Amino acid sequence: MTVSLVWLRRDLRLADNPALAQAKANGRPILFLFHLDSERLERHDVDGIHVQWELDCLDRLRQEIERKGGVVLFRFGQILNTLNELHDHYKIHTIYGNEESGLQWSWNRDKSVTKWCDENSVLFEEFPSNGVIRRLRSRDDWKALRDRRIDSSLVEAPQRIRSPDNVQSDVIPHAAELGFEVRELQQRPEPGESAAMDTLFSFLDERGRGYRKGMSSPISGEIMCSRLSPYLSTGCISIRQIFYHTKRKQRRIKTNPRSAENRGWSGSLSSFQSRLAWHCHFMQRLEAEATLDEQSMNPELDALLERPFDEEKFRAWSEGTTGWPFFDACMRYLTATGWINFRMRAMLQSVASYTLWLPWRASGAHLARQFLDYEPGIHWSQIQMQSGVTGINSVRAYSILKQSQDQDPEGEFIKRWVPELTDVPSEHIHEPWLMSEKEQREASCIIGTDYPGPIVDEKVTRKEGISQAYKAKADAEAKLRSKLVYLVHGSRKRSRFQKASHLK
Ligand SMILES: Cc1cc2nc3c(=O)[nH]c(=O)nc-3n(C[C@H](O)[C@H](O)[C@H](O)COP(=O)(O)OP(=O)(O)OC[C@H]3O[C@@H](n4cnc5c(N)ncnc54)[C@H](O)[C@@H]3O)c2cc1C
Repeated sequence: MTVSLVWLRRDLRLADNPALAQAKANGRPILFLFHLDSERLERHDVDGIHVQWELDCLDRLRQEIERKGGVVLFRFGQILNTLNELHDHYKIHTIYGNEESGLQWSWNRDKSVTKWCDENSVLFEEFPSNGVIRRLRSRDDWKALRDRRIDSSLVEAPQRIRSPDNVQSDVIPHAAELGFEVRELQQRPEPGESAAMDTLFSFLDERGRGYRKGMSSPISGEIMCSRLSPYLSTGCISIRQIFYHTKRKQRRIKTNPRSAENRGWSGSLSSFQSRLAWHCHFMQRLEAEATLDEQSMNPELDALLERPFDEEKFRAWSEGTTGWPFFDACMRYLTATGWINFRMRAMLQSVASYTLWLPWRASGAHLARQFLDYEPGIHWSQIQMQSGVTGINSVRAYSILKQSQDQDPEGEFIKRWVPELTDVPSEHIHEPWLMSEKEQREASCIIGTDYPGPIVDEKVTRKEGISQAYKAKADAEAKLRSKLVYLVHGSRKRSRFQKASHLK
């Protein structure tokens, strides 16, 4: 008797899981394996919050799988040791998995599994389950291929699962038992596949109406953004399921867009669909280049920018003690909850790269460890974009003062996350260092004692950063590289890149 092994990686769901559907169709008893690579203990971009979230999602999946008659095995260590052990015991016929686009270490792991399968006469079948096109020949073809893939029929969850006789699921451990440090998150979402669907429907039924306008502020974004990213990162929901239900809602709206019930939805849903396409677009970048956490897309540009590591600045940036109230509130909120909206993520990164001139690898790794939804393909593409090291994106250095005044005019968010400033009046909340000594005393906030003064003069250093970035971008070798970067990674929608003078 042989078994099929369904290798769970970042696809912790039963519905729309092509690898599982194929294993089921082939009729052999199925074992599910979740293998946690011990290598992740050492990685600069991994935090215990990621591992604990995965394990909690896995545990919910285990319960569902057991209800249907299946079992889930859990192993921690080196994948080949695990495969040897399981093969000795159960005789694996085929390993089924959904394609994963990860960083170089995960490619290396997958390659070693392919080799092991060849050597042990085990079949290894992988299936596409998102908008990433493996072995894509040209970026020009990507959008059409992605759109076709995303719009194809969903795969149903199996009703029953047959497992080998006399095997039981393993107990899923806590990440701390495996040596990961796990910090407690406030407002952490409910794990698992059914919580992911509930989150999608609460967005499509209610929360998403104000998405287009509400997404930019950390206050409204908390409710009006979909909050699906942690579920996507563990694969508790697929991008195709989200696309499918969003499209259905769009069709319904179209029949009567002006009715009170439908008003506001149309723009919000089309903005949301664009974000889903961006998800796939950035994941495709990692598929083409698995070293985005180490190597900039445009190394010539990166070398010209020469950003040195400054410990004091890095500490203030990462701990949210820069002396810029809105910035500090955003960093502290992120650290406490594991999530913040897109605009604020971009600001956090661009302040590191332009205003404080810190190296992007270190700030990128710090942010990766804070995001519960860490997704390397999106993350490192965005880190590089917001640091000006791709050569194909415009220089975007966010002004903290402008974001503070636009997104939190009364300082409500600031006061929630920076309690040192609770009694500072609204007119001073964005720049408390401008208060007179008397005003500081009245606000119980002495700058330099109760709350730091700004670490640098934002107006000066941000301007310097922008000017350095433009200067480097104009360099002949960097421009040449930008052309190549565009060919491999550039969005074909944005034809201005093709026309832009710096690429000529
Ligand atoms: C520096 C930086 C780092 C980031 N790191 C990550 C990361 O590690 N993981 C991650 O999922 N997103 C990342 N993003 C993108 C974006 O901020 C998050 O996807 C979003 O805030 C997640 O919240 P949501 O699910 O409510 O998003 P929504 O606004 O509801 O969007 C729905 C989905 O669309 C996708 N999406 C939204 N915005 C983007 C975008 N700009 N680029 C690509 N896909 C997008 C995500 O999958 C998201 O879950 C990063 C952005 C920046 C600027």
